[in-house]
Amino acid sequence: MAALFEKVLIANRGEIALRIQRACRELGIKTVVVHSEADTDAKYVKLADESVCIGPPPSRQSYLNVPAIIAAAEVTDAEAIHPGYGFLSENADFAERVERSGFKFIGPTADVIRMMGDKVAAKRAMIAAGVPCVPGSEGALPEDPKEIVKIARSVGYPVIIKAAGGGGGRGMRVVHTEAALINAVQTTRAEAAAAFNNPEVYMEKFLENPRHIEIQILADHFGNVVHLGERDCSMQRRHQKVLEEAPAPKLTTRLREKIGDRCADACRRIGYRGAGTIEFLFENNDFYFIEMNTRVQVEHPVTELITGIDIVQEQIRVASGQRLRLKQKDVVFKGHAIECRINAEDPYKFTPSPGKIQTWHAPGGPGVRVDSHAYSGYVVPPHYDSMIAKLIVYGDTRAQAIARMKIALSETIVEGIQTNVPLHRELMRDTHFIDGGTSIHYLEQMLAARERDR
Ligand code: ADP
Repeated sequence: MAALFEKVLIANRGEIALRIQRACRELGIKTVVVHSEADTDAKYVKLADESVCIGPPPSRQSYLNVPAIIAAAEVTDAEAIHPGYGFLSENADFAERVERSGFKFIGPTADVIRMMGDKVAAKRAMIAAGVPCVPGSEGALPEDPKEIVKIARSVGYPVIIKAAGGGGGRGMRVVHTEAALINAVQTTRAEAAAAFNNPEVYMEKFLENPRHIEIQILADHFGNVVHLGERDCSMQRRHQKVLEEAPAPKLTTRLREKIGDRCADACRRIGYRGAGTIEFLFENNDFYFIEMNTRVQVEHPVTELITGIDIVQEQIRVASGQRLRLKQKDVVFKGHAIECRINAEDPYKFTPSPGKIQTWHAPGGPGVRVDSHAYSGYVVPPHYDSMIAKLIVYGDTRAQAIARMKIALSETIVEGIQTNVPLHRELMRDTHFIDGGTSIHYLEQMLAARERDR
């Protein structure tokens, strides 16, 4: 068996930097944390074996500063780089630079990242691998407006125009009528060119009431692939996930196995390695592929809790060159897990609320896991994502998980900044959420109703 890395550099910040550090420590691997000047006082920076300041607060000059990160790996003699999520995690050029500089990139090959980062190419690959996709344009949209109108007619309104290079819920526009079509395509193209450096857009049927269900994959360098079942991430605001759970309420075992096996097959075909997630919209018991994320995801803990598998550790093991220790039959699902993303933001207006946390009291008790780098006195910097914690609970049943989440949220105290904890408390009492299986539009509908009642 290949030996594990001796030292890993963590090219990220916040809760995921701490999460990766914990996985490394449990495996007996030394850690190097790189950080910006805004994160010098973070506890996980102090807990790391080594730390290197790589630049001023703005991400461009620090967490996205490739030469500084590679230099940090060189001076500390790290063997591998874990990119976490966000920042450089899905940047194929970065993965290539890392490998060319003599380090291991903890993730799939640059080629696979590049293919999946281009949603048009990703869709083509998935169709070839027999994964069901949302009906839409075959590849990128042409320039000719007449052709675009023709495609939209054959797909049927409403349609959604999406940037091939899009991500993070950006670069999408829904079109309900032919009158609005060309303008929408042009605006999305211009935005995509500016934001993603790629003006290519494509068209999909806009599904009216789907759920968002995704499949977690683990793969090694020897063609072994397993799926770890699904997560339901339908609770979204502006295409951003707010709460996730596993398993997906009301999904049958037969459907789970079928889509899981398809995904594992597809990963075998494309030579995928490491942890990855294949995202689907799910409507009327049918799955439609939307994209693949070639990295660990924010919501990975809910899968860990129902399978007992440490996804980050497995990611590191396979990147070291070890074979997957799991066969599909070893993956057993038990119980139910829910994750609430705790953001530093106004719970009604959703504007960011950075600043000093005066009091931080995290919940505990049976079935409660808190992944967070926050503490009393911690200053949430204004430069980055507003997520400060993930509150994750496990129960034998979904009802028990909800009950535990209610208690955990009631114990959570954050003073000094605003958070969305009140929103999660409301969700736990919401009859539609309790019933389970709400669509991706539900949260926004609920928020709109709440605004009207205020
Ligand atoms: P991103 O990479 O920006 O996250 P995705 O393709 O994963 O983009 O889409 C993000 C979200 O946008 C989905 O979870 C869903 O809410 C919505 N969405 C995307 N495609 C469609 C579609 N064809 N119909 C309805 N909603 C969609």
